[in-house]
Amino acid sequence: MNKPLPFFPVALAAWLACAAQAVLGIPEGLVLCPFRLVTGHRCPGCGMGHAVVHAMRGNWAESLRHHPIGIALLAVWTGWLLLEASRYFFGAAFAPGFASGRGTSSNVASRP
Ligand SMILES: [Zn+2]
Repeated sequence: MNKPLPFFPVALAAWLACAAQAVLGIPEGLVLCPFRLVTGHRCPGCGMGHAVVHAMRGNWAESLRHHPIGIALLAVWTGWLLLEASRYFFGAAFAPGFASGRGTSSNVASRP
């Protein structure tokens, strides 16, 4: 059976994609929400990507205008990435996700 992909590389890649948009600019008219693409209506998470990118730019008001928890998400996301990177640096394996049961061998991906 294949090992699951550790969550850290996926979360880091998504963070870097947001950072690239913060530097290079957000593509106009870009809609990635599958619910909105299918129904044309906004879901509760719509605007989160723009909110995170504006928060990365330090544009707090614009971030809040797009989604009220974008700033908090960026803070938790960045903190979690830094914590996981430091754990990995000191020899721990990547946890499979945010709510991992650390220390149990059944849900912690092994380090190569
Ligand atoms: Zn949506």
